[in-house]
Amino acid sequence: MHNKKIIEILNDGRIHLSCELFPPKQGSELQNSLEIVNRIAAVKPSYMSVTYGAGGSTVGYSAALAKEVQDNGLPALAHLTCVKADEVKITEVLQQLQGHGVNNILALRGDIPADMQGDHQGSFAHASDLMRFVKEQGDFCVGGAAYPEGHPESGSLEQDIENTKYKVEAGVDFLVTQMFFDNTILYNYMFRLLRAGINVPVVPGIMPVTNAKQIIRICQLSGTKLPPQFRAMVEKFADKPEALKQAGIAYATGQIIDLISNGFDNVHIYTMNKPEIFKGIMDNLSEIVD
Ligand code: FAD
Repeated sequence: MHNKKIIEILNDGRIHLSCELFPPKQGSELQNSLEIVNRIAAVKPSYMSVTYGAGGSTVGYSAALAKEVQDNGLPALAHLTCVKADEVKITEVLQQLQGHGVNNILALRGDIPADMQGDHQGSFAHASDLMRFVKEQGDFCVGGAAYPEGHPESGSLEQDIENTKYKVEAGVDFLVTQMFFDNTILYNYMFRLLRAGINVPVVPGIMPVTNAKQIIRICQLSGTKLPPQFRAMVEKFADKPEALKQAGIAYATGQIIDLISNGFDNVHIYTMNKPEIFKGIMDNLSEIVD
């Protein structure tokens, strides 16, 4: 199971939920994050992705978490970014990951940290360049990011979709979307992708809201729209964290049921490292997820 390529999981016709973890900041304790991996793994996602600090700031921790996922018998999807990365560094990281049995990579440009603006270039300008390189290095299943509301730097949704074609030309096996809170945005986006001839599997990314201030800040940065019913929920429970968590799990569950009802077999959950959130969603879908 844990050596499976993600694309095999996505195409097996069953309903799968996967989730994302992020490593601790450099210099902090790793043990807590390893325990989070174990607690989420116990709830049985189909695979777990591990984010990567742009510039390689989390490389050791990201690899250690990916290993922990694999050791739990689940495939790890290891993120890698272009920011400040050269071919030697990426080859080294890929070899380390392969040593842990990881053969699934999510290749990204990365969020450019404020202190690296203007000084972030490495060997790869765009995610598609990194994808091509990873594919040349071994038998990796490679995913990429997709933006139902357009990437903030793309200028327009049309241009964003044109640029997504570079990922397909580079051999991307599947795409995982940025979060969205209105499923019609994803359905419109799917139509645009198909019209542009992009037909690799698309895994919707769902973010259960747990923190009012944080979600508003993340959405401002990523350009994600807050639909009125979502905004009302966040405002109503902003000062009641446990109520917001419960409402956030219910909202995310509703989005997922609608996605599954409309033919999406695979959904990725941005768990924000909170096992109880992933468990809450899985419990709500116990008769629905295979
Ligand atoms: P790219 O595909 O390089 O796109 C960046 C911009 O350039 C876009 O506007 C695109 O339209 C444009 N573009 C692409 N190709 C070309 C081209 N050939 N010519 C001209 N323009 C082009 N960030 C992290 O730092 N670490 C993570 O672990 C991480 N995980 C993520 C997981 C998911 C599922 C998602 C959706 C995002 C994640 N991010 C992560 C954030 C991501 O790195 C940023 O959104 C980043 O700004 C863009 O990444 P990309 O891979 O889409 O880059």
